[in-house]
Amino acid sequence: MFQPASRIANIASPATIAMAARARELKAEGKDIISLALGQPDFASPPQALEGAIEEVRAGHTGYPPIPGQKSLLEAVAHKFKRDNELDVSLSQLMVANGGKQIIFNAFMASIEQGDEVIVPSPYWVSYPLIAQMFGGKAVHVPCYEHNNFRLDPADLAKAITPKTRWIVLNFPNNPTGAILEKSDLEAIAEVIRKAPHVLVMSDEIYEHLTFDGKKHLSLAQVAPDLMDRILIVNGVSKAYAMTGWRVGFAAGPEKLIKAMIKVQGNVSSGICTLAQGGACAALNGNLTEVEAMRNVYEKRRNRAVEFLRAIDGVSCAMPQGAFYAYPGFAAIMNKRTASGRLVTNDVELAEALLEEQHLATVPGSAFGLGPHLRLSFAASEQQLSEAYERLKRFVESFS
Ligand code: GLU
Repeated sequence: MFQPASRIANIASPATIAMAARARELKAEGKDIISLALGQPDFASPPQALEGAIEEVRAGHTGYPPIPGQKSLLEAVAHKFKRDNELDVSLSQLMVANGGKQIIFNAFMASIEQGDEVIVPSPYWVSYPLIAQMFGGKAVHVPCYEHNNFRLDPADLAKAITPKTRWIVLNFPNNPTGAILEKSDLEAIAEVIRKAPHVLVMSDEIYEHLTFDGKKHLSLAQVAPDLMDRILIVNGVSKAYAMTGWRVGFAAGPEKLIKAMIKVQGNVSSGICTLAQGGACAALNGNLTEVEAMRNVYEKRRNRAVEFLRAIDGVSCAMPQGAFYAYPGFAAIMNKRTASGRLVTNDVELAEALLEEQHLATVPGSAFGLGPHLRLSFAASEQQLSEAYERLKRFVESFS
């Protein structure tokens, strides 16, 4: 009888993926499901990305690629860091992997010893603590508060650092709250990091192009270039270019760390699909016109989402400043009953009831470290979003 290894026996599957899979199953059964569970852009990938992939096939690039990535893609990534973040990185400081997730996996596997602490400000994307735990790491959460627009307070961060801290994970624009960090926040955080020379920083900037209200993303490395030898920047083409299925993530970091990460990947999966590399290369070498057009649409959807959610009695909603998720709170309807008499005491039960009673899939906030919230992606068509919000309103208003 199979028993999972202790290394993973107590590790949960990511709630984002679990909810999306559940929605897919119910849809296959013929149920009229709307899923706002996954951060999955509803746009097509840019035409130049498609061409780039086809070009790889035509050129006969169908053999094993180099493990860190094809030179042409690494050059495109270096160009991206220069263009978007004013950073000069050499190719030996870069690698590509199967999505940002594998970059995180590589980095944690390459660096975490049993009992090491990984500071993950909360709310957080589900996978940072889960991947850290796979390698014996212990997630230490630093709460970011709604009244502070979910920004990370540098003083709270400083208090969480111990001699056992191995990593600090920063993810701004944030999934799930949409919080961003201003230059002054980054400067104060850099000061904290300077005082802890044993700590590495993972800065996940996958949503960098999706910021609203005229705000522009700043990378920690841009504000504190002196810390570049301890910062690993995680990024990828998934969110900005609507290329989630291509699975192309990349990282820039200290050469020694990147080398160790390449060793991990060489033992796990080798270099990533050449077609995907060609597509990502073309996307990164293109201009940001399509990205900006999508960003504009997301901003309009964000405005509508927040306006709609705030108008529902019993729902509170902060204004996301980036990414494409709304993160409404439902404290006012906890310990009440749905129209069918079902008692809801937390956000997991809330998400379940919403899925079963209104066929709307979301992710419970507790999976991201803060309930009773739900995460609703607004990377979905306007028509789906309108119908989803109507369902949510009907559902919440039925509580008594
Ligand atoms: N980042 C996406 C999300 O949060 C994808 C989910 C995942 O890969 O776990 O929905």
